[in-house]
Amino acid sequence: MKEFLEFKIDLDGFINELKTRLKNNNKQIEELLKKENKTYKNFVKPMQMMDEYLEHFFTPLSHLNSVNNSDETQKVYAESLPIITEYSTQISQNIEMYKAYKEILDNEKDTLNFEQLRVLELNIQGFELSGAHLDEKAKKRLAEINIKKSELSNNFSQNLLDATNAYEKIITDEADIKGIPQSDLESARFEEDGVTKYKFTLQMPSYIAYMTYGKNREIREELYKAYVTRAPENAKIIDELLVLKNEMANLLGFENYAQYSIATKMAKNEDEVLGFLEKLVTNSKAQAKEELKELQTMSDKKLESFDSTYYSEMLKKEKYDLDEELYRPYFEQKNVVNGMFDFLNKLFAITFKKVDEKLWDKKAFSYDLHVEGRLRARLYLDLEARESKRGGAWMHNFQTHCTKEDGTKQLASAFIVCNFPPSSQNNPSLLRHDDVVTLFHEMGHAIHHMLSTVNENEVSGVNGVEWDAVEFPSQFLENFAYEPSVLKLFASHYKTKEIIPDKMIEKLVKSKNFLSASGMLRQLEFSIFDFKLHSKVYQGDEVQALLDNIREDTALIKTPSYNKFQNGFAHIFAGGYAAGYYSYKWAEVLSADAFFSVVDEGIFNSKTANNYLNVILKSGGSKSMAILFKELMQRDADTNNLLRLNGIK
Ligand SMILES: [Zn+2]
Repeated sequence: MKEFLEFKIDLDGFINELKTRLKNNNKQIEELLKKENKTYKNFVKPMQMMDEYLEHFFTPLSHLNSVNNSDETQKVYAESLPIITEYSTQISQNIEMYKAYKEILDNEKDTLNFEQLRVLELNIQGFELSGAHLDEKAKKRLAEINIKKSELSNNFSQNLLDATNAYEKIITDEADIKGIPQSDLESARFEEDGVTKYKFTLQMPSYIAYMTYGKNREIREELYKAYVTRAPENAKIIDELLVLKNEMANLLGFENYAQYSIATKMAKNEDEVLGFLEKLVTNSKAQAKEELKELQTMSDKKLESFDSTYYSEMLKKEKYDLDEELYRPYFEQKNVVNGMFDFLNKLFAITFKKVDEKLWDKKAFSYDLHVEGRLRARLYLDLEARESKRGGAWMHNFQTHCTKEDGTKQLASAFIVCNFPPSSQNNPSLLRHDDVVTLFHEMGHAIHHMLSTVNENEVSGVNGVEWDAVEFPSQFLENFAYEPSVLKLFASHYKTKEIIPDKMIEKLVKSKNFLSASGMLRQLEFSIFDFKLHSKVYQGDEVQALLDNIREDTALIKTPSYNKFQNGFAHIFAGGYAAGYYSYKWAEVLSADAFFSVVDEGIFNSKTANNYLNVILKSGGSKSMAILFKELMQRDADTNNLLRLNGIK
């Protein structure tokens, strides 16, 4: 095999091929289980690699369905989900396999290395969390729940995508687009019957553009209302999901889904999570009230939810004279990408080289990552928004660094997908500074995956990392997108080539914590809602009531009653963040702490940065982050650094 898989997919033959592969896997599993003397080498390793190879086959489909969504990818993806879920549920409940892992751990615990031990421990825990030790009736029910859950999540996500694409607001009155930046208007403008019109949609760059700069308050409310009322049919899915998740947790011996969720996380118990979040609410509230008071001075009318982005931008401009539009010419996409590579080279001595390879879209590119002159990983970047792409930004791993059954090495690869403004022949893709931060964030995930030196793929790179620690490397890296010495590496004007002036950076840094306490409250609102929602069974109106109740404490501007935020909360209903949204804040503590150490040491000659590469990035999930963090800092995480990072006193 070549170092990296080719990105190829046959949609027509996919389901048949999947079924054949799973059949072969099941046959191989049967044979493995028949072995008399099961060892790590002859049993665990082949089991692990079987999963890895299945990922190699399946990832191109899930990836395409996200970045080049079509009726065909949807159909194949939807058809494959129950098949693959049934397969993995069967494995995860196979009592013989569970016994085999326990037996191998017993026999070899003194001779296996810590990576191998961690694989066994996580597998045994995984089996117990998926009910391998339960009776047949309970197992059968769990299997049904898993298939249903996965279908519901996919429907949730698809409903949201359909609703997002179904809406458009056509503006014909030039007065209504006054103040909106040229680059955004460029994307919105079209001609119809000789009339110039502007189309705004619920896709991120377009929606944000109007909410930030759109003068017409009625249009802002119309867009906002369309956005927060998307996919009302998801309310029913939420009810069903909550019941199923609770039933699942009960079957596995937990009181509720929140308890089940934290069994695999750094956090010890429910009280610790809620205590952590509520303390942050308390610490942020006073400053958030001051922030709102100041924001209110910008308008004669009482501020509503659909005003806050607009007036925030206005206040920000007044206070810091910071016009994001003035910054965009300094953040031309290609410059930013190359600059980020340059920064990583200076920080960790790693190098990226562009690869000549045909991918799924002409705007997608791949790069080889070299360390000390040796090829180590491949990175795929697909950064620009298009209609067939799911919203948001994410990193997804493809190959994982490991040693295969025959002792040869497999290298890692990862995708970074974003929704940046599209480039055209006449216009380059000019990023907002937020986009730069997003790119650094996803790159933090990607290098966590790609720089792993772990030999066991189940605990290599981002595999096996606790959920509430998984955002540590991404948030760590995104913090550098505000550092003057880092920005100066790449932020040069795309026309004049002038490096971004010190004064502009100063303003950027100053405005970084603009309205930070309000932003903190909003994230805490999501986190507390998610966590409490999964601590007992909420149904129908109770879901809204819970959210309203939390908002009394966290939402200083009263949210309109038509706002059904929950129906678009894909993180927890279509992603893996259920009872785990708090993880973002949790990991921020780790990242803020490590980040300030590097900064205080002068960034480019920092000993902590070097340790970060060797301890955190290279180790992947081979040890608990609680242990790795202690190895890095020689102490536990200091929560005060989270407030310091956000400028909250
Ligand atoms: Zn992330």
